[in-house]
Amino acid sequence: MSLQRVKAPGTFDYDVIVVGAGPAGLTAGLYTSRARLKTLVIDKLVPGGQILNTHLIEDYPGFESIEGADLAARMQAHAEKFGAEIIMDQVVDVRTEGPQDQVKVVRTMEREYRAKAVIVTAGGSPVKLGVPGEERLNARGVSYCAVCDGPFFNNRVLAVVGGGDAAVEEGVYLTKYASKVYLIHRRGQLRAQKILQDRLFANPKVEVIWDSVVDEILGDASVKGIRLRNVKTGEGRTLDVGGVFIFVGFTPNSDILEPLKGRLDREGSGYIVTNMYMETGVPGIYAAGDIRAQLARQVTTAVGDATTAAIAAEKYIEALNEQPEDPQPIKEAAQAAVAVAGYS
Ligand code: NAP
Repeated sequence: MSLQRVKAPGTFDYDVIVVGAGPAGLTAGLYTSRARLKTLVIDKLVPGGQILNTHLIEDYPGFESIEGADLAARMQAHAEKFGAEIIMDQVVDVRTEGPQDQVKVVRTMEREYRAKAVIVTAGGSPVKLGVPGEERLNARGVSYCAVCDGPFFNNRVLAVVGGGDAAVEEGVYLTKYASKVYLIHRRGQLRAQKILQDRLFANPKVEVIWDSVVDEILGDASVKGIRLRNVKTGEGRTLDVGGVFIFVGFTPNSDILEPLKGRLDREGSGYIVTNMYMETGVPGIYAAGDIRAQLARQVTTAVGDATTAAIAAEKYIEALNEQPEDPQPIKEAAQAAVAVAGYS
């Protein structure tokens, strides 16, 4: 089978489009633009992703301690220095056109863009508890971001829900402002990293309420309390709090790949499954960072995955540009090129 190449001038607006400008997206943008590929990075918000919601980052090598917003600004400036174009727009969906999926079409609220490769680093959104009062009191005491909203709760009593890294880390952060923080966890053991747990347990302002779930968030104009239930005893109680910070995980923003459904593997609540080159089931479409099914969701893993995705995309574009008559499908050619280049 010979490969028909899309030759029409102007078919492609960019070599690479990166969807999402968190640490993964900014890294992908840095690598592809540094490789002299015309790169567009699109994010619906300001660049930075999840690290904008994190006060201090202490596990990014080379930076013993850096504010999330500072690291985001540095990553953005670094990608832009090499020529990545970063815009604010909302991506609606991603699909392909032409033989062998040669043209990737990224549709945003504003327009459509065509590229040779797409790297999806769209991250995820906070999971909601789904209890009465949560939606009504959102932004009136219910929050999913300690860095954004913590300063509004000076000397208040707060509840933090969850037992993972985010709940524990942000719970400790909130003690900067709050007079007391209740950490409410549905089990008798935290999921968070040990070092974060140690910090939590050592903080005199924190009280952990084990084996308990929130059944309702109370208040009219603002949060006044929460109704708790012990899952072991069934016993209920009401806790007076001025704010509830919810950190019960997040769902990947993979709906934008809906047009390619059936050609992509997904896991759990929609995490995209890739191979070791960050390739999805569609040639020339890659996934990296928190949207990808993987063991850990750290800034370091996002950055590493995005590096792999960017290099694989570069090889794929080389194959697309230079070997249109190669009988191998592009994907295999790109994989072979990646392997030969020693990136495996
Ligand atoms: P996570 O690790 O998935 O933890 C979610 C927590 O919420 C778990 O403790 C879970 O309980 C609990 N939970 C889930 N649904 C619940 C519900 N309906 N009601 C009550 N509790 C519920 O999520 P995360 O903490 O947001 O972290 C997400 C990812 O980002 C992780 O991979 C994490 O390592 C990473 N992260 C890393 C750092 C860091 O390294 N400094 C900081 C923040 C986040 P169970 O334990 O019972 O399942």
